[in-house]
Order: sequence, then C-alpha cells, then structure tokens
Amino acid sequence: MNGLMMQMPLLISSLIRHADRHHGDTEIVSRRVEGDIHRYTYRDCHRRARQMANALARLGIRDSDAVGTIAWNGYRHMELYFAVSGSGAVLHTVNPRLHPDQIVYIADHAEDKAIFFDLSFLPIIKAIAGRTRTAKIFVAMTDAAHLPADHGIPGLVCYEDLIAGASDAYEWPVFSEEHASSICYTSGTTGNPKGVLYSHRSTLLHTYSIALPDSLNLSARDVLLPVVPMFHVNAWGLPYAACMVGSKLVYPGPGLDGKSLYELFESEQVTLSAGVPTVWQGLLAHVESQKLRFSSMNRTVIGGSACPPAMIHAFQDGYGVQVLHAWGMTEMSPVGTVATFKARHLAGSAAARNAVQARQGRVVFGVDMKVVDPEGRELPWDGKSSGDLLVRGPAILHSYFKNEGGDPLEEGWFPTGDVANIDADGYMQITDRSKDVIKSGGEWIGSIDLENIAMGHPAVAMAACIAVKHPKWDERPLLVVQKKPGAELDREQMLAWYEGKVANWWTPDDVAFVESIPLGATGKMLKNRLREQFRDYRLPDA
Ligand code: ADP
Repeated sequence: MNGLMMQMPLLISSLIRHADRHHGDTEIVSRRVEGDIHRYTYRDCHRRARQMANALARLGIRDSDAVGTIAWNGYRHMELYFAVSGSGAVLHTVNPRLHPDQIVYIADHAEDKAIFFDLSFLPIIKAIAGRTRTAKIFVAMTDAAHLPADHGIPGLVCYEDLIAGASDAYEWPVFSEEHASSICYTSGTTGNPKGVLYSHRSTLLHTYSIALPDSLNLSARDVLLPVVPMFHVNAWGLPYAACMVGSKLVYPGPGLDGKSLYELFESEQVTLSAGVPTVWQGLLAHVESQKLRFSSMNRTVIGGSACPPAMIHAFQDGYGVQVLHAWGMTEMSPVGTVATFKARHLAGSAAARNAVQARQGRVVFGVDMKVVDPEGRELPWDGKSSGDLLVRGPAILHSYFKNEGGDPLEEGWFPTGDVANIDADGYMQITDRSKDVIKSGGEWIGSIDLENIAMGHPAVAMAACIAVKHPKWDERPLLVVQKKPGAELDREQMLAWYEGKVANWWTPDDVAFVESIPLGATGKMLKNRLREQFRDYRLPDA
C-alpha cells in the first residue's frame, strides 16, 4: 500500500522560489569583478534567474543541455545556478585554475553549449574559443559598459543585455527529481578529469543534510560567506542551503586574500564562513599581523584537506571562532562528515574536545560509511583500526559521466581512496589518501599526522610528508617544508619538534626546505608533483 501524500519532486527551482517567498528581503551582497560592492535581495535574484531562464531558451539552450560557467562567487553566478538547473539544463561549473587544454577537454566532454564567464577569465576564453567542439556561445558576465572593446571573441554576448531583453514571466518546469542538474569534474591528479553528474533529488537531499544543526547549523539568523568557490563542487552546496534556510549571503568575488576577506567579514557582519585550510592561512596571517579581531564571525567550516590542529587552536582560542572540521569529496556532493560535538563532549575536558575536532567528524544524515581491510572485511570502530574508507548514500555517485573508468562501486559502496579509522562514537579520522600512504617496513605511516605536527611549529607555513625509497625499509618519510616569510628553522630543529609527539620510527628521516609547496586547482598540496621532484632523493642513512 502506498502512502497518500502529494507527489512533488524535489527540484532546485523550489529553493529559490522558497527564498523569494519567505526571505524575499534578505540580502545577497557581492564583491564584483567590476570592483564595487553589489547588493540586492533573494527576490531580485529570483526575478533575474527567471529572466535568465527565458534568455537561455532564446539562446537555444534546451532541456539537458550543458551550460558552462567560469566565474567567481557572485550574484550572477548564483542566478545561473537556478536559471540553468531550474529550467532543466545542466550547470557545468569549470575551475578556472585548470589549464586551457583541460578546460577544452571537459567542456567537450560535458558537451557545453554555452560558456558564461567573469571578465577576469577573458584570457581563458581567448585561449579556448574556436577550439571547443560544442560550445559556440560565449557570454561575458558583465554589462556593455564594462566590456572591453578589444575582447576579440566573435559573437560575444553580454550578460546584462540578455537579462534586459528578457521577460521575468517564467514558470519553473516540473520534471522528475532524478533529472540531471549539474556536473562537476574531479581534479584528476591522475588521468583525465571525470564528471560527477548530480540530480535535483541528490542536490536537495544534500542541502537538507548540510543545513542541520549537527552539520553547519545554518539558519535565517546567519550571514554566510562561502569562500569555497562556486566552481568547486557547487561551493560545497552552500548557495542552495542558504536559500533553504534564508541566510544572508555574502560573495567575495575575486577578493580571496586575507585583507579583502576580513573587510567583508566585518562590513557585512558575517557569522559563518567556509573554505580550505590554505585560504584560512592567509586570513589568519592578516589578522595576526594587524592585531585584528572578528566582531561577528562565530564559526567557520574548514575542509577539502586536513585542518591542522594548530589552525583549529588559532581560530578558537585566539579569536573565539568555532571550527567545523569537515570532510567530503566531489563524488559525495560533497559533504560527508562534520566534526560537531555530542552533549557529553560539552561537559567533558578541553583535551577531549580537541581530540574530537582533529577528526573529520560524524556522517551527515544520508551518508553511511565503513572502513575495510584489504580483503574487504569491515574493521571495528575502535578509533585505531585503519583501512579503506567506503561510503554510500543518495547523494553519492554510482557512476561517472559517460561511464568513464567503468563501474566505480565495490558491492554497492563507493571507495573514497582515503584511509581512515572510525571511533566508537562514529567520528571518522582520515589518516591518508591511499596513494599518499608511506609504507615503512611493512607498516603504514600516516602522512597527515606528520604534516599536522609540522604545521604546529611557529616557523612553518606549510608542510608535506612524502614517501621516499629506502633500501632497508622500502619507504621512509621525507618532510618537505615551506617556512613562513622571514622565519628561521633548520633540519635539526624541525626533527626535534617531533620528539614525544609520535613514535620514534614515525619521525621523518629528513627535511627538505622549499620556496613554495605546489598547490593544485582546488588549493590542495600536489604531493604527486613533490614525489616526482624528490624521486631520486637520498635519505641520510640510505
Ligand atoms: P579532488 O577533485 O581533488 O578529488 P575533492 O574535493 O573531491 O577534490 O577531494 C576529495 C578529497 O579531499 C578527499 O577524498 C580527501 O582525500 C580530501 N579531503 C577533503 N576534506 C578533507 C579533510 N577534512 N581532511 C583530510 N582530507 C580531506
């Protein structure tokens, strides 16, 4: 027997309609590429998204066509999130830090019909226009007054002209909630990037789960500034979640340095932000050097790579900003776990709370996880037994776009490629990417732990721990360190820092100081590049 409830598919258009109807006056503030601050409301955003939906139809964009964007976090990008997906087309957010050849590859693979871009990325468009197989329409996300006369792109369309010429009379179509809504490509550190094709249903379920109190606790009382780019896994789903709960939104545009972010946090009274550790390093360096305080920010989400305990400590104890350490991946929409407390942690010791926060956290509702040994047997939740981390859930992919790479699942579970353990309370901790694990004398050494310790040293800006070949132990850890500007630190001091913090045999064998550690398109350390660089490195006793 079926239930007797309304059959209403979960559609992305319902989010902006809800935000307009119930939070119509709530502001969306954006730092624009044009240089100024733009403000309007959810009501305005919804109106312009409807105009853009009409404009897309006029451009010939049909149901299920892909539309690319190469843009910062801003209100026009937000309009496209709803205009494109809401009208039944597929939003393809492209990471501008990729090489133009890679952009051509993924634009062709996704079969983008049009590409919308911020003016900062005109050089990319110049490099790819004429090379993309399906993308023949290029739209500059600005007004005619700001369009450079010598842009050199034949037939270039101007975003504001499209809006001005379009009616706001538009009914969002109703279709199956399984309909594709957007596509993101994994960064593809090995091989070609692969597409993860989200549905309206997976997006809505993910939106509910990340807004919950034990996830990000997002509400209409929040002012949310997503630093995580809208071109990286839909800014972790935050633009959707803000609509669901009616948070005021603040978009930083291209201003991602510590000073620009801090100014916006203060002028807009931001309460919650989200980004990768490398971004927060810049912000912390700025507030520390200028002796500033946060007057409104009370929490920030840090994920994408492991958040060093030293950073958690700096935010919480130095500035009263609670850190929400989170883990996820493109294939998971992306949020998988968030480290939030249970009641007894609040009553317990500070040390116990610190230990909880150093972990990547508990699953958000809708994610199931387990760790398994090499034979695929589930390992106990004892906080020690490490193995491959597998996940499943309705917002987790079951195959890549066009079935690239074949069936990725193992008996219905998605192997994350991360190595982790889970404790008795269900808090998961990533110890490594499986390809980064250091295998010494038949045992594993977790590189993240060693990096976290190094990054707790006051002279260290960034640290990566990589495996180097060793004749006796097979592999041993080499610590690659980027010092803070002007800081003094030598090999012996760095190695002495590990005393008492890890088992002796975990201590890195050597330290290599570098000018800068290479970062990938999403701000993560490129360890494969370092492994390449130090492939023939001879350790002191090797
Ligand atoms: P990519 O495209 O680089 O795979 P993702 O954002 O999908 O980008 O990366 C997911 C991976 O990032 C995870 O599998 C994990 O290895 C790493 N990661 C994300 N968050 C964390 C975290 N809090 N701690 C440690 N690793 C993390």
